[in-house]
Amino acid sequence: MKMIDAECVFCKIITGVIPCRKVYEDENCYAFMDIAPFERGHTLVVPKRHLAFLTDMPDELLIHLILTTRKIAAHILQELPCDGFNILQNNGECATQTVPHVHFHIIPRWNNQKPRWHSSEGCQSNDEITETHKRIAINGN
Ligand code: 5GP
Ligand code: ZN
Repeated sequence: MKMIDAECVFCKIITGVIPCRKVYEDENCYAFMDIAPFERGHTLVVPKRHLAFLTDMPDELLIHLILTTRKIAAHILQELPCDGFNILQNNGECATQTVPHVHFHIIPRWNNQKPRWHSSEGCQSNDEITETHKRIAINGN
């Protein structure tokens, strides 16, 4: 059973080869801030095991991943804070999946603000991103 793909960007993040702003980690899941966020606090939640599609996931791991995604979303809602959020999950290049390692996007949203469905890279300073990270990182992570 292949756990890690040495060429995969997210496997490199999970194993510390590529740095990231970590939001959460447990035995089976890892969450970190998206490098090209649609909105402030845009977070990705991934299984540690390298699987490309949602449909490749064993039941137990998928249940754990979605419950973890809910936990992180609840934390972001309260601590960022935001008024709502989108969960986005792409499978295959035809569906705009660019990293073939299963992931849920958590995209924070605010009342009276039109949802943006593309990167807002450059809209936030490094200090702002650091401040957002402090708010949404789950303690002990
Ligand atoms: P997809 O389009 O596959 O659903 O989303 C992949 C996401 O991964 C994109 O939003 C992209 O910005 C993010 N991403 C790609 N490479 C990196 C990286 O090296 N670090 C981080 N933090 N995010 C990345
Ligand atoms: Zn991977």
